Amino acid sequence: MIPLSLWHTASTGLDVWLSALAYGAAQVLVLMTDEEAPQYLAGVQSQMAQAQALLEGLGYVSKGQAPLQVVQVRSAMELDVDVQRLTVGAQRLKAQIPLAPFAVTAEKRGTLGLVMDHLLEHAPVLKTTNPPESLPLPQEGALFGTVNINKDTCTLCMSCVSACPAQALQDNNQAPQLRFVEKNCVQCGLCVTTCPEKAIDLTTRLLLTSQRKEPRVVNETQPYGCIRCKKPFGTLKGVEAMLGKLAGHAMFQGAALERLKMCGDCRVIDIYSAGDEQKIS
Ligand code: SF4
Ligand code: SF4
Repeated sequence: MIPLSLWHTASTGLDVWLSALAYGAAQVLVLMTDEEAPQYLAGVQSQMAQAQALLEGLGYVSKGQAPLQVVQVRSAMELDVDVQRLTVGAQRLKAQIPLAPFAVTAEKRGTLGLVMDHLLEHAPVLKTTNPPESLPLPQEGALFGTVNINKDTCTLCMSCVSACPAQALQDNNQAPQLRFVEKNCVQCGLCVTTCPEKAIDLTTRLLLTSQRKEPRVVNETQPYGCIRCKKPFGTLKGVEAMLGKLAGHAMFQGAALERLKMCGDCRVIDIYSAGDEQKIS
């Protein structure tokens, strides 16, 4: 047994626990006492449930075998009893994880990426004749997953791209496309709350194919060209949605509605060249 002191028990997570197993540890026990607020215990337990689902799904542990556990005790005596109960006679992992060739760093997501690559490279489930495409994970505290975009309501406004803190959602400066890199997504839900069209929902999972690291197009549309100079200035879906919403508005009737189909420059030219435009002198 190698005891390791921590600044705070909730400061560790899947990055450190899974790396410990990949360095050859048979078990990881996290000692928590009643000094921590209950929210920290709940957080650590939900992260352990994620780790357990990953290890089971990848084929490293059998169902019911739990190499990661929280130990909750109030005295050294209780600790001794609990550690003996959990460690003596504990089964080895169903499939041994080969020794990790990487070093744990202070950058948590980077380390998690390294350990996940290692676990996926050697995963027994991927060596079977018919491996699954993805593993379902518990929703609470999920760290991996995908976004589902409703293509009928998404206008390609790209608000979700600006909101995404992990660069999982990306635009394409060559074409009106919304792209997604699943490996980067931390399932924070910021895109869901930011989307003005309520066009996004999340599915927690671990994608097992090579697509996990590649950008994939999750929605795309045609560029919209200015009706005056033909220069593209928006997306077809975005302009159509704007016209649909403003068509009944008193301020956007006749020429004003037509100007919404123009780029910024042409709108100004059109306003100043229109003979019937109301001017303030
Ligand atoms: S999903 Fe929502 S926020 Fe993202 S581009 Fe589509 S409409 Fe905009
Ligand atoms: S859930 Fe978070 S990380 Fe994932 S795409 Fe949305 S904003 Fe980005």
